[in-house]
Amino acid sequence: MKLWKISSLYYGKITVPKGNLAAGLDPDLLIDFPYTGFLLRNGDENVLVDTGIHADHIVDGRAWGGCPAEGGASFVLDALAKEGLTPEDIDTVIYTHLHNDHAGNALLFPEAKTYFQKDEYTNLLNPLPTQKIREDFDPRTPGDLARLKHIYMFDGNLRLPNGLELYKVPGHTSGSIAIVVPTAEGRYVITGDIPHLGIALFPKLDTYELLGGECIPITPAPDNMMPYLFNSVIYDHYAAYDSYNLLKCLAEAFEPKWYLTGHDPWVINRHSFG
Ligand SMILES: [Zn+2]
Repeated sequence: MKLWKISSLYYGKITVPKGNLAAGLDPDLLIDFPYTGFLLRNGDENVLVDTGIHADHIVDGRAWGGCPAEGGASFVLDALAKEGLTPEDIDTVIYTHLHNDHAGNALLFPEAKTYFQKDEYTNLLNPLPTQKIREDFDPRTPGDLARLKHIYMFDGNLRLPNGLELYKVPGHTSGSIAIVVPTAEGRYVITGDIPHLGIALFPKLDTYELLGGECIPITPAPDNMMPYLFNSVIYDHYAAYDSYNLLKCLAEAFEPKWYLTGHDPWVINRHSFG
């Protein structure tokens, strides 16, 4: 089996109080969180993980929760161009989940094999009231998916013939998945938004790396918030505990560097893995 190389892709960003994604810790600290995609290459196949936010979903420069944001198809195209690729070069698209900032540009890849979890599709079609209020799911996404030519909707865990491992990790949404990517360095886990940030899995971290590379001090979680730091976008806490416990088992080691989350700036800064 061939090993993979991973590149993180910058699809834009959203400016959110850190407290929103860290159980209220450091509520006055505003941070630019990237919209992140990943390109996985093994020499035979180009796999894209997530397609970012649709430009129409950013209204007057604001997106999820009314927070300032930038993004759209042009960011996806620019990120691919920096890797020397166009959308036609993408063989496979895997969605960690179908939230508006992860599946907004599906129509750029109509011919790609497209993987997502069955329960995620059910959640997309039947959002909770709290998910509707913020339009966590883009109303355009069901129609977009219907126009894709090669849908691979699966239920549970799946090991692909190319060596990528897909694990169901519900809690943030009903059908989120994590992707284990075997590389020459070891096993990386692309987590999607459960957790959004590494500090959710490692709540005692006391520094945080911003876009551009500057590190700032942050408040480590108090002991009564351990072992994991959940935020207000966890819709099923029982499922989330199971998912975090599973994530803990999947990587090369239970250390922050192996967990490539949906919105951590350091993942964009480092860019290449494996
Ligand atoms: Zn999400």
